[in-house]
Amino acid sequence: MPAQKDNDSPFTSKKCPYCDNYLAIDERFCFSCKKRVGKLNKKTGMAMQPIAWISYLICLLSWAFLGFYIWWAFYKQT
Ligand SMILES: [Zn+2]
Repeated sequence: MPAQKDNDSPFTSKKCPYCDNYLAIDERFCFSCKKRVGKLNKKTGMAMQPIAWISYLICLLSWAFLGFYIWWAFYKQT
């Protein structure tokens, strides 16, 4: 698959989804609110919000821990 170029994008800047500041297209962090921003959404001109992997991981781990705790507290045979 050939690499696609973004020359057809009508945007020269993108907007921070958190504070509506204008950022450079390749900016990874908003200089105003210091949050991480994703790539440009070509439909809206906004920067996409990066997926919060850490939050998902913590959520998943706490559910796993809860399941383990229930098993340990009620079903574990000694
Ligand atoms: Zn911002």
